[in-house]
Amino acid sequence: MLLQRLSRRATKNVSIGAVNDRKIHEWILTNVLEIGMKINVDRARCTGHAMCFAQAPELFPLDDEGFSIADGTIVPPGQEERAQRGVDACPERAIHLSNS
Ligand code: SF4
Repeated sequence: MLLQRLSRRATKNVSIGAVNDRKIHEWILTNVLEIGMKINVDRARCTGHAMCFAQAPELFPLDDEGFSIADGTIVPPGQEERAQRGVDACPERAIHLSNS
């Protein structure tokens, strides 16, 4: 029910080109749920420095051995700058941000 309502609302607001499921899905993510960025961690590169955690502990959680378990974490709106600081702090370049 909720998804149907959101899809109807999205359909009214997507005006460029053909409306398809992917566009509706993207519109819902960015305009309704306000989901923007996702944290991606290459666990093979992570060596457990915890520099990301030091920048934003809630965005870059660690496992019991100090390795990042942040892969797939959605960055809440307004936290993008802190997420980028965590990315920049990683000496192994193990983290990057992508559009969710
Ligand atoms: S700073 Fe980089 S290497 Fe260190 S825990 Fe975070 S992701 Fe892993």
